Amino acid sequence: MRLVFMGPPGAGKGTQAARLAEHFGVPHIATGDIFRRELESGTRLGKKAGEVMARGDLLPDEITNEIIAKRIRQEDAQKGFVLDGYPRTPSQAKVLDQLLEEMGANIDAVIKFMVTGDEIVSRLSGRRSCPVCGEIYHLVTRPPMNPGVCDNEGAALEMRPDDSEESVRNRLEVYGQETKPLYDLYVARGIFREVDAIGSTEEVFQRLLDAIDSR
Ligand code: ADP
Repeated sequence: MRLVFMGPPGAGKGTQAARLAEHFGVPHIATGDIFRRELESGTRLGKKAGEVMARGDLLPDEITNEIIAKRIRQEDAQKGFVLDGYPRTPSQAKVLDQLLEEMGANIDAVIKFMVTGDEIVSRLSGRRSCPVCGEIYHLVTRPPMNPGVCDNEGAALEMRPDDSEESVRNRLEVYGQETKPLYDLYVARGIFREVDAIGSTEEVFQRLLDAIDSR
C-alpha cells in the first residue's frame, strides 16, 4: 500500500499516518519528523532545518528530495509506505514519480485532509508533544493522564516552536502557494481522495479506511 497524505498544517495527518501505517504494516515516512530528529541530534542539517522550520518555511527541494530518495530506497519501504508531508512542491512531486518508476510502483491514493481555518488554529495552539517518544497530545481533545506530562515517558510535554501564531500563518501561506497546486496533478490521475478530517481520531480513521477501500 502506497499512500500520500496531504492537507494544511494541523489537519491531523501525522496522528492518522502513524495509525494507518501500522494497520497496513508499512513505514510511516514523515519529512517533518525526519528534520526534527536531525535537529535533536544536532547535525548540520538539523541546525539549518531548525531555523527554517521555526519560520514555517520549506527546506530546499534538493535537500528534501535527497533525504526522501534515500529513505524510500530502503528495504522496509519496498512493500509500501504512508508518506506524510511529502511531496509539498512540484519538484518534489516529480522526484517521487521518478522514484516510483524506478521501483516499478504506483501511488495507490493521495488523500487530502479537509479542515476549516478555525479548526487548524485550535488544533495547533493546543498541540503538545513528548520530546522523548514523539507522542502527540491536545490540551482539550487528547489530554495526557497527568497535565503536561507524557503518559509513556513521564517527560514534560512541549509545544512545537513552529506552532506559534506567526509561524502558523506563514505555513498556511506556503501551503497555499506551493502545495495546493499539486492537487490538480493527482486529480487528473484519478487517485485523489478528500477526507473530512473533523471528528474524533477514530471517526477520521474509519473515513480514511473507507476512502482507501473505495479506490
Ligand atoms: P505541518 O504539516 O504541520 O506543517 P510537518 O511536521 O509536516 O508539519 O513539517 C514541519 C516543517 O518541516 C515544515 O514547516 C517545513 O519547514 C519542514 N518540511 C516538512 N516537510 C517538508 C517538505 N516536503 N519540503 C520542505 N520542507 C519540509
